Amino acid sequence: MRLVLLGPPGAGKGTQAANITDSYKIPHISTGDIFRKNVKEGTELGKKAKGYMDKGELVPDEVVVAIVEDRLKEEDCSDGFLLDGFPRTVNQAEQLDSVLAEMDVAIDKVINIDVRKDTLVERAAGRRVCRSCGATYHVMFKPAQKKGICDLCGGEVYQRDDDTEDTVSKRIEVYINETQPLIEYYSRKQNLITIDGEQNIQKVFKDIMAALGV
Ligand code: ADP
Ligand code: ADP
Ligand code: ZN
Repeated sequence: MRLVLLGPPGAGKGTQAANITDSYKIPHISTGDIFRKNVKEGTELGKKAKGYMDKGELVPDEVVVAIVEDRLKEEDCSDGFLLDGFPRTVNQAEQLDSVLAEMDVAIDKVINIDVRKDTLVERAAGRRVCRSCGATYHVMFKPAQKKGICDLCGGEVYQRDDDTEDTVSKRIEVYINETQPLIEYYSRKQNLITIDGEQNIQKVFKDIMAALGV
């Protein structure tokens, strides 16, 4: 299964990606996670990405596309993968299509998680993330069992630098201008599924699996 998760910042992409990739046993490719890992490790890529991320802007297409192309060519992606947070512009989507065509494969489904703006701000503001494994928590909706400690790996659970109210608003604006046009792009290709993301985490997951025919 080759899947793309689409949705505004804070919609629940990362949360559902973890559930979906567990079920299908496919790799979870999150461009945001890749950038955060590089920022943490202080790599050249991390230095390049951090300025954009802190401002809530998109990292330039050519940087992101090159990373995703390399990742998709790794062995573990041969039977399927889930892209989370990529593509985010029409140009990225077109370039993804040509990379996949070259590999003689295509996207099966694009899952669009639909959430209202007020909910996005509430979700992003309460989001906490594990510094070691990237697992996602929420202070109200999905608290870690022990405050500040990851249930899965014992790592430190922290608040992302870009989850401030100002940056979240900026990211939502960038989403509307740059990413939302992908809904039209993928509905024309007839592989778009839209899911009501206002429901609780389990119900959203159930609807996704039902829409995928599981
Ligand atoms: P969110 O959870 O808000 O959807 P992500 O973790 O996916 O955020 O991304 C965090 C930041 O990383 C983005 O605001 C952007 O700066 C950068 N980023 C991630 N994916 C992409 C992409 N496909 N294109 C450009 N920038 C990206
Ligand atoms: P995205 O990857 O789209 O930015 P996340 O998966 O990181 O979104 O979710 C954003 C925040 O909202 C996290 O704190 C997560 O625990 C929480 N969350 C995700 N889905 C739901 C939901 N259906 N109901 C309530 N909270 C949710
Ligand atoms: Zn962890």
